[in-house]
Amino acid sequence: MLTQDDIQLLRKDFPILDEQIYGRRLVYLDNAATTQKPVCVVDTIKHQYFHTNANVHRGVHFLSHKATELHEAARKTVADFIGVPDEKGIIFTRGTTEAINLVASSFGEAFCNRGDQIIVSAMEHHSNIVPWQLLAERKDLKIKVIPISEKGELDLDFFRTVLNEKTKIVAVSHVSNVLGTVNNVREIIRMAHEKGVAVLVDGAQAVPHIPLNISELDADFYVFSAHKIYGPTGIGVLFGKTELLEKMPPYQGGGEMIAKVTFERTTYNELPFKFEAGTPDYIGSTAFATALKYVQNIGIKQIAAYENELLQYASTAMLRNIDKLKIYGTASEKSAVLSFNIGTIHPYDIGVLLDHQGIAVRTGHHCAQPLMDFYEIQGTVRASFAFYNTLNEIDIFVEAVKKAVKMLS
Ligand code: PLP
Repeated sequence: MLTQDDIQLLRKDFPILDEQIYGRRLVYLDNAATTQKPVCVVDTIKHQYFHTNANVHRGVHFLSHKATELHEAARKTVADFIGVPDEKGIIFTRGTTEAINLVASSFGEAFCNRGDQIIVSAMEHHSNIVPWQLLAERKDLKIKVIPISEKGELDLDFFRTVLNEKTKIVAVSHVSNVLGTVNNVREIIRMAHEKGVAVLVDGAQAVPHIPLNISELDADFYVFSAHKIYGPTGIGVLFGKTELLEKMPPYQGGGEMIAKVTFERTTYNELPFKFEAGTPDYIGSTAFATALKYVQNIGIKQIAAYENELLQYASTAMLRNIDKLKIYGTASEKSAVLSFNIGTIHPYDIGVLLDHQGIAVRTGHHCAQPLMDFYEIQGTVRASFAFYNTLNEIDIFVEAVKKAVKMLS
């Protein structure tokens, strides 16, 4: 188990955590939006630009070979991290959002026809709703929504009743960015596969927090972003089963993704390059690999256990100290996210007053407006934790919330 002493040592890897905000040391509790970067990740970016920068895949010269080697080694690191034996199914994208758009567009083109059905859940991030709506509009498809309980758990009995021969794909989040609910995606995948239906799992909030083996999970598609797991912004991953990716048309056209171009007919590159048009983010991929190795070094199981301690500590302290507190998301399996409201106080007002005390949280609908509609609220305050947060920071946070409430009441 990671101790507070271990955490103090790890915090030294993150210089931004020493920043002063309005004269107070930053307390960063907005990790679900993006995580801070350790020195090794930023050093990798700098080293690459200063020593190995050249465009990948096409060059005959030394630097291009070196850059290509690093980029492809990064793909292997990603595959290993998520338990995928074959890097051909690892496609670099700009992030989770682009990965979902890729699947919606390309899988939709290959496999969906008028009257078919897509299933999503009521707790999805907009990036796992809108791409499917665009596809549904284009191809005249229906979207069914798995409802949730007040606690924020999916109704899998309902899911069973709507899964049918018209269903082409199920798209669900592994972990909710608002509620922290860890969905039973293993069971969802099992149920979908029984009916021959593919499943896309949005792992944006899962990969940084829980151990993962995608091969065991048997997900058809799994997507996530580097910036939420201590890596750089602007790069993410689509894992797809190669037998599906082989049947799907390219998402974008351009360099890299072709085998042969003529004005009469163009043929496409093999996987994964068929889905990677244009110069890839080869600097980002290598820095991403550094981030994953950094996490691996600490141990994702240790991270999960420690973050759970933070979550329990914060939830108990908030419930003990704050009157009229309502926590959204009380699922039996929950990741390190605490969304709440206090009486009728607007979440934005609490967010601003916390900011004045050096505390970064997120307020609003968290790109999950249908979920806000379900709870009949405008938004919440969301504190989201990472392994570099301390119990002392949570004490500071709870005291700051108390102070904010006093000022606003
Ligand atoms: N899905 C979930 C569950 C998220 O939390 C987020 C970001 O907050 C996304 C998708 C979109 O990720 P990105 O903006 O990195 O593409």
